[in-house]
Amino acid sequence: MKYASLEELEQQISSCTRCPLHKTATQKVIRKGSNNPAILFIGEAPGKNEDATGVPFCGRAGKMLDNIIEYMGLDDDKWAVINTIKCRPPNNRTPNKKELKECRPFLEMQIELLDPKLIVLLGNTAEAAFVGRGKLEWGKCREISGKKVLKLYHPAALMYTRSRIADQHQFIAENRKLWEKYSKRR
Ligand code: SF4
Repeated sequence: MKYASLEELEQQISSCTRCPLHKTATQKVIRKGSNNPAILFIGEAPGKNEDATGVPFCGRAGKMLDNIIEYMGLDDDKWAVINTIKCRPPNNRTPNKKELKECRPFLEMQIELLDPKLIVLLGNTAEAAFVGRGKLEWGKCREISGKKVLKLYHPAALMYTRSRIADQHQFIAENRKLWEKYSKRR
């Protein structure tokens, strides 16, 4: 599946009926942020607020992600955020393997067309969708298919285990040169 432009891809996602989640979701939740990001964050799946607004990371977890982005010192045109799947699973459950597989072509094409220099996987589901569960170590940057890839905690996980906030802030502070390096490349 190839798309000439990000716009064409996003139109196709909007009309997708490939898996049953489209029947229960209010709308597709596709992307927030730049269409030419240096750093691309990948979360899990739309939740209740995202389903209602069509905007990824717009609830409490979104505020937490905003804090992470601000702490990294990224300007608005340097980042974007997407999810592994584009429709909300009922009751905010974790996407299953079949759903991740059905939606994966869209994830791959979003990455190709957004073409970030650094991909930040937010939590285990993003890791499972992108490389397979348990393949990455938190905070260790690896090169995969020509992209630098880093796994961090999902913002929602930070809300539930607040001791991780300090760990993640410390990691971001210690790696300031990494954020500066990748955000300067465009
Ligand atoms: S989750 Fe993905 S594959 Fe399933 S209907 Fe939504 S856009 Fe299509």
